[in-house]
Amino acid sequence: MNFNIPPHIQKLMDEIREFVYEELIPLENSRLYGGHFGELLPVLREKREKVKSLGWWAPWLHHEWGGMGLSLTEYAHISEVLAHSPLGHYVFNCQAPDVGNMEVLMMFGNEAQQAQYLRPLASGDIRSCFSMTEPGRAGSNPTWLDTTAVRDGDEYVINGRKWFTSSADGASFAIVMAVTNPSAEKHGRASMIIVPVGTPGFNHLRRIQIMGDEGSDHASHSEVEYVDCRVPAENIIHHEGAGFMIAQARLGPGRIHHAMRWIGIAERALALMCQYAVQREVAPGRPLATQQTIQDWTAESRAEIEAARLMVLRCAHRIDELGAKAARTDISMIKFFVAPILQRVLDRAIQAHGALGMTDDIPLSYWYRHERAARIYDGPDEVHKMVVAREEFKRYG
Ligand SMILES: Cc1cc2nc3c(=O)[nH]c(=O)nc-3n(C[C@H](O)[C@H](O)[C@H](O)COP(=O)(O)OP(=O)(O)OC[C@H]3O[C@@H](n4cnc5c(N)ncnc54)[C@H](O)[C@@H]3O)c2cc1C
Repeated sequence: MNFNIPPHIQKLMDEIREFVYEELIPLENSRLYGGHFGELLPVLREKREKVKSLGWWAPWLHHEWGGMGLSLTEYAHISEVLAHSPLGHYVFNCQAPDVGNMEVLMMFGNEAQQAQYLRPLASGDIRSCFSMTEPGRAGSNPTWLDTTAVRDGDEYVINGRKWFTSSADGASFAIVMAVTNPSAEKHGRASMIIVPVGTPGFNHLRRIQIMGDEGSDHASHSEVEYVDCRVPAENIIHHEGAGFMIAQARLGPGRIHHAMRWIGIAERALALMCQYAVQREVAPGRPLATQQTIQDWTAESRAEIEAARLMVLRCAHRIDELGAKAARTDISMIKFFVAPILQRVLDRAIQAHGALGMTDDIPLSYWYRHERAARIYDGPDEVHKMVVAREEFKRYG
């Protein structure tokens, strides 16, 4: 693995960092941190147009879909820079869950599905959501679902209840994971099916309150019910029973996206902590930065962030070179290694800010609330540790 960042990527990172600091961070306010993302949509639309005109749209998406066509390793660097603002990924059209859905449709969608759903998603005209997790079943075991899709002539009839369907509020379609082949072996039971929002029987029940805020629009997580929801049979992605395989393919690169985003957040949190520590005086002429505890937190945060970045970049490099399957344990490792580092860095930064750290005047408490989920979504840490331990034990018979 080459440790040098290619000059063209370094240049891009510098330019995009400047854009994030000059154009996006000034838009952040306590309303955004308090869950009112939707209020910013008009200005975010303008920023998205600007990003398009600068040639930075959807950095990770292939050229044929209007993106920059960066490799996963190249995109990882950009994802870190974008994460310095909670608005970065959205403005560059590489936000979850859309980026994962674009990938699914690019890899497994047929021509008609790509024209109808991928094209407008790639251009940012619509948004989407991904509906797999159910309140009644353990999300950590995606082979065990209650939601069914029963073939009836030229249609599938979907019944079930999902929650944590992120960004369903304002989305145009959902990719739903439902059991189509109940008697198949467990990895071949479920399928992914496209359900346009607004189809009779697609019932958006609520935006779930998360650590005190229900969010809005893209920045929200919904509970959705499917009641005799009929969609054309051609809305199935790839083929019946392919749901689990597609979910695995979707999550590999997705974890790189998340992990680099976490590193970007950790970098901004550390920067905020250091800026505050050098100017906040605990006594006349004695800034917080002279305290050994703060120095300790700063040094530990820096070391942890550097270690995390190297690990994620190595994983991205292996996916680029060998594919997501071969990098499976690396993918699991970054998930449970990086998420707690983000939590620790945020916690230290909040502590260093004292009461200010608890407010929505700065972004720390917003991230602290929302990124607690990093240890849960895309598979809880415990499951990923199991995967790594299993591989390790194999060496010893
Ligand atoms: C903010 C957020 C956004 C999300 N977005 C989406 C989305 O867009 N679409 C979607 O479909 N889902 C989404 N999810 C759901 C997420 O993928 C699930 O929460 C996750 O897979 C865990 O499932 P669960 O919540 O049912 O926990 P469970 O599977 O019930 O597990 C509960 C706990 O048990 C422990 N545990 C589970 N399995 C094991 C094991 N094998 N060994 C040891 N301990 C174990 C873990 O500590 C785990 O946290 C989101 C979740 C959050 C919090």
